Amino acid sequence: MSQRYSIWSLLKHAMGGHKGWERAWRDPEPKKSYDVVIIGGGGHGLATAYYLAKNHGIRNIAIL
Ligand SMILES: Cc1cc2nc3c(=O)[nH]c(=O)nc-3n(C[C@H](O)[C@H](O)[C@H](O)COP(=O)(O)OP(=O)(O)OC[C@H]3O[C@@H](n4cnc5c(N)ncnc54)[C@H](O)[C@@H]3O)c2cc1C
Repeated sequence: MSQRYSIWSLLKHAMGGHKGWERAWRDPEPKKSYDVVIIGGGGHGLATAYYLAKNHGIRNIAIL
């Protein structure tokens, strides 16, 4: 990914109304099933997905 999140990049994008960011995630078709579905992609939702994968090997996760 070429997009950077430095303070300079944040400032530059802030001046442009944050309209120039590249999309940071894929847009896959949903699967038929998941082992875990997390509702809400805030800090806790993302951390839950991260640690389920890292500590428990669960990688078939959807975050809505
Ligand atoms: C103005 C402000 C300043 C703050 N400053 C700090 C700070 O400096 N330091 C600090 O540690 N904390 C700070 N906090 C607190 C911190 O932002 C929260 O504690 C933290 O974001 C909570 O994370 P969360 O994942 O539980 O919830 P959130 O970050 O609120 O994430 C919940 C997500 O779930 C999504 N969601 C909700 N309902 C649904 C649904 N039905 N379907 C799909 N998605 C859904 C929401 O859109 C959101 O993206 C601040 C909070 C506010 C409001």
